[in-house]
Amino acid sequence: MNPFEQAQEQLQRAIAVQKISEQLVAQLAAPEREVKISIPLMMDNGTIKMFEGYRVQYSSLRGPYKGGIRYHPDTDINEVKALGFWMTMKCGVANIPMGGGKGGITVDPRTLSKKELERLSRGWVRGLYPILGPEHDVPAPDVNTTPEMMGWMADEYQKITDDKRNATFTGKPLDKGGSEGRSVATGLGGFYVFEALRTALKLPKSASVAVQGMGNVGGNAARVFHEHGHTILAMSDSKGGIYSKKGLDPETVEAYKKENRSLKGFPGTEEISNEKLLELSCDVLIPAALENQITKKNAKKIRARVVLELANGPTTTEADDILFERGVLVVPDILANSGGVVVSTYEWEQNLEKEHWSEKEVLGKLQKLLERESKNIWDRSQKLKTDLRRAAFVLALERLDVALTEKGSVTRTKK
Ligand code: NAD
Repeated sequence: MNPFEQAQEQLQRAIAVQKISEQLVAQLAAPEREVKISIPLMMDNGTIKMFEGYRVQYSSLRGPYKGGIRYHPDTDINEVKALGFWMTMKCGVANIPMGGGKGGITVDPRTLSKKELERLSRGWVRGLYPILGPEHDVPAPDVNTTPEMMGWMADEYQKITDDKRNATFTGKPLDKGGSEGRSVATGLGGFYVFEALRTALKLPKSASVAVQGMGNVGGNAARVFHEHGHTILAMSDSKGGIYSKKGLDPETVEAYKKENRSLKGFPGTEEISNEKLLELSCDVLIPAALENQITKKNAKKIRARVVLELANGPTTTEADDILFERGVLVVPDILANSGGVVVSTYEWEQNLEKEHWSEKEVLGKLQKLLERESKNIWDRSQKLKTDLRRAAFVLALERLDVALTEKGSVTRTKK
C-alpha cells in the first residue's frame, strides 16, 4: 500500500467504530485539488535542471489549507496526498481553524548548493503563488525544509503579489515574522502530549526513550525529554544511530554530529542501525523520521511500552493491529505531532493581527490545547473501546462534520 492508501484505510477503520456522515466520508476520499508543477532550476554551473513540485489542497472545510513542504528524493504525489489528508485530520484534532494540505519537491537537497536551494524554493512559489495566500493556503516547513527556506518563500510571495501581511508562510525565522516557539513546537508538543497521557499510559516519571530521526522534530524531542529527567537510550539519523545504556545528552550528540557530519564514533556509545533502534526495549519509542517504519515485518519485535508517533505515518495499519494485540499503545501522529501546526497557526494569527506574542504565551497556549485534546482522545478511546488512532480520527471527523453541515457542501477557495 502506498501512504495514501494507508491513510484511507485508517479512515475506513475509524468509521467502523463510529458512524460518520456518508457525505463527509465521500468528500474525504480525494483532495479538493492537487497541483503538479515543473520547476526549472538554474544550477550554479549555468545548466538548467527540471524538478517536480506539488501542492495538494486536501480539505478547506474548517479553514485555509495548511501543511508543510517536503524536499525528498522519494516524495511523490501519493505521499503528498497522504500527508495532506493527515493534516486535515490533525487540524481537526487540534481544533484550529485550518483545513489540510501539503506540498513537496522531488529532490535530494544534499546534492544542491545553498544558492540552488534558494532558487528552487523561490521557483516553487513562482509556480504555485496563484493558489496560495493567508485566506487560501498557508504552507510551512517539513522534512528537509527550514525556517530560512520559509523566509525565502515568504519573500518571493510578497515580491510577486505585493501582499505585505507576511501571513502566507509559517515557520519563518523570528526576525522575518516567525513565531516564538515554532522551531521547538512539534518536539515539545510531543512531550506535552506524553505528559498529559503519562499516568493513563502507566509510564514512570523517569522513562527510557529511543528516538529515530534527529532533525527538527526528533532532535528537539530528545532534548526536551532529556531536560525533564528521562533517559535517551538511542538517537539516529538517516545513516544509522548510537546507543548507550547509561543515556545520551542530546545537545552533545547534536554538536558531535555537526562537527563530524555523522554519529559514528561518538565516545562511549555503541553503533545501532535504524532497524535495531526500533526494536530496543524501552518505555517510549519515538519515530521522528519518515513513514512506514513500523510494519507487519517488525511490529512483533517492538519492545517499547508506548510508541509516540512524532513522524507522520510511521506505523502501518497492519502493524497497528499487531501492536494493539500485544498491548503496545500507539499515540497517533495526528495528536502527538500536532504542536507544529498549532504554533504555525499562532504565527499566522500574529502576522494577520500585526502582533508578537511572548514564548511563554505561545507555549502556554500550546500546552493547554494539547492537554485538553489528549484527554478528549483518551476518554473517547475508553468509551469506544478502541485504540487512540481511531479515537483521534473520530474526534476530527465529528468536527469536520459540523463544518460540513454548516457549509452544506465542499467549499473551494476562490482562487
Ligand atoms: P528534518 O528534515 O528536520 O529531519 C529528518 C530526520 O530524519 C533527520 O535527522 C534525518 O537524518 C532522519 N532520517 C531521514 N531518513 C531516515 C531514515 N530512513 N531512518 C532514520 N532517520 C532518517 O524533518 P522534521 O521536520 O524533523 O520531520 C520529521 C518527521 O516529523 C516527518 O515525518 C515530518 O512529516 C514530521 N513532522 C514535522 C513537523 C515539523 O514541524 N517540522 C510537524 C509535524 C510532523
